[in-house]
Amino acid sequence: MIPFNKPFIAGKELYYIAQAVTMGNIAADGYFTKACSRLLEERFGINKVLLVPSGTAALELAAMLCDLRPGDEVIMPSYTFVSTASAFARVGAKPVFVDIRPDTLNIDETKIEAAVNERTRAVVPVHYGGVACEMDAIMDIARRHNLLVIEDAAQGVNAFYKGRALGSIGHLGCYSFHETKNYVCGEGGAICINDARFIERAEILRDKGTNRQKFFRGEVDKYTWVDVGSSYVMAELLAAFLYGQLEHLDDISARRRELYEYYAEHLRPLEDAGDLRLPRIPPDCQSNYHLFYILTRDAASRDGLIQHLRRADILAVFHYVPLHSSPAGRRLAVAAGDLSVTQDAADRLLRLPLYHDITVEEQRSVVTELEAYSRTAAS
Ligand SMILES: *Cc1c(COP(=O)(O)O)cnc(C)c1O
Repeated sequence: MIPFNKPFIAGKELYYIAQAVTMGNIAADGYFTKACSRLLEERFGINKVLLVPSGTAALELAAMLCDLRPGDEVIMPSYTFVSTASAFARVGAKPVFVDIRPDTLNIDETKIEAAVNERTRAVVPVHYGGVACEMDAIMDIARRHNLLVIEDAAQGVNAFYKGRALGSIGHLGCYSFHETKNYVCGEGGAICINDARFIERAEILRDKGTNRQKFFRGEVDKYTWVDVGSSYVMAELLAAFLYGQLEHLDDISARRRELYEYYAEHLRPLEDAGDLRLPRIPPDCQSNYHLFYILTRDAASRDGLIQHLRRADILAVFHYVPLHSSPAGRRLAVAAGDLSVTQDAADRLLRLPLYHDITVEEQRSVVTELEAYSRTAAS
């Protein structure tokens, strides 16, 4: 059986967990939390990084920091994970869905401006598969219309746009360390705060609405309740695991690149024959090779291929049900214009097994089954 994803150990994760216990701090904001935050800040040029329990929590914290009012609108793709939209819907804002580009499947920056009106407050570009959105154009639109930009970089840790780390470009950025992402700790995330005016409130909202972080720094002599927050801290035990992964940022990326390129090279003949389309990485984007997908000819051949692979004990999976067509999306959000590229990608996209410890034999058998399926489809 070849699974779609498998967790992995990159180095000292388990040793660091034991060390956290020995050091006597397994709750939040201990040695490893600080070490992870500092590493991410320094490597990616981010003003302030706070570890949180998940990518979803990072998006929720970001939405709270935007101080949105009911009726405020937030522009984002429909082709994304639920949390991108739900984080904003739960503070009363309305997600406004814009179509994606056919090449990267990222939000189509040329269609954003037509969706902006007097209620628009923010744009949430999602860097699909670790390939950057067209951030120069998006930041320019945001500047001209006075909008906040929150990067959903859940899949974009250690990926870059024109040399700048994803998550470091917008006012705020959100990372995920869920077990399916490139760098993992089970469940986890981080909020990247690039615009310094959000730092103080982010610390407060994350820590139950208290000014405890100021207290720890000796800036106040006791801490107390100052805002409506929640508990958005990561347990030190998980930060210890995460640090073991982050120490190997580039080894892990290099490994994923190798796996990605194996698929790209061996599937190119099928693309040349017109049987499928491979992912595209524009020249301005340095990918972290988060996922490898193919686009089949049509929905029926994608669904047939899923079945074919399953019979060969290979688990390949489709991706998003577009949010505009979901029950909550229909109730809480609106589409701006036509979303035909979104629907088309949702119908034809298939993600292939890609994880740190996949073997070349396993990748070869995925390729062999794709070739066999193409032959049966042709005959
Ligand atoms: C994974 C993911 C999230 C959510 O992250 P969790 O850590 O699972 O909460 C949000 N947005 C996108 C685009 C993701 O891929």
